[in-house]
Amino acid sequence: MLRNLITDAVVLFVSPSGENNRSVCVFSRELGIVYAILYGGPKSKLRGLVSPFNRGKMYLYRDTVKNSVKITDFDVTNFHQTFRESLFKSWAASLASEIVIKTKCGGSAGECWKIFNGFLDGIELSDEDSGRLGLVRFLWRYLELLGIRPDTSFCASCGKAFFSHTADSGSEHGKSNPAEHGSSGRTEYSRMEIAELTQTAAIYMPSENGFLCVSCSAPDKRGFRLCKQALHYLTAVSELEPKEVRSLQCTAKAANEMRDLTFYMIEAAAGQRLKSIESGLGIL
Ligand SMILES: [Zn+2]
Repeated sequence: MLRNLITDAVVLFVSPSGENNRSVCVFSRELGIVYAILYGGPKSKLRGLVSPFNRGKMYLYRDTVKNSVKITDFDVTNFHQTFRESLFKSWAASLASEIVIKTKCGGSAGECWKIFNGFLDGIELSDEDSGRLGLVRFLWRYLELLGIRPDTSFCASCGKAFFSHTADSGSEHGKSNPAEHGSSGRTEYSRMEIAELTQTAAIYMPSENGFLCVSCSAPDKRGFRLCKQALHYLTAVSELEPKEVRSLQCTAKAANEMRDLTFYMIEAAAGQRLKSIESGLGIL
């Protein structure tokens, strides 16, 4: 790292350091995770700018004598104002940050930068229900970055395909085009549709990191059951463009199943419990 450096950066965590200074955990597109010191009292303008989830051009100075990095300026371009008004959004963003730190950007700062900032910008624009699905999509993409995302198309034991044809947008993955269903964007399902969509379609077995079909799974074995809609949704995240998946709707059951599964998988990948999941239980 050079003595003076300008980098695209997003602030992850800020904590007090000494009387007037702050210790800042920064995610830089070029450098990955950087711990830096911010000097200055409460009235400093820069201190106001260096707040969690603000993103922009950051100016860093490396002090070779003290072996530390100092933030000298920050031109913020993205503020994420709504995070302050929503406990869910700030918690979800903290969870994503914790994952990025504990997995060391999944081994690729550049790819991780895209997924992480896409997630922050996405939940900034969405309501909390859509934000919950946004968190599932972030985690599912992150598992791919880590190289451990299982295949949702075939049974890991007998090889039977879970779906009759490959993914495309539309009814196969869930209801789209919320405009047809009123301004709230909520989709109403008929009882018949709910019965069909909420049937168990596959069981995730942690021991195999794979999905088994209902015939292959032993009823006494523990695993994560996914209904047809949840399995469709995760397949869509794997196969479709982000903007196509965003318009797909889900029942609460499918959303909860995907949350429980992705939380379990990301903690297993990090090799430890994640503080944001433990303390954010009931919010996330
Ligand atoms: Zn099978």
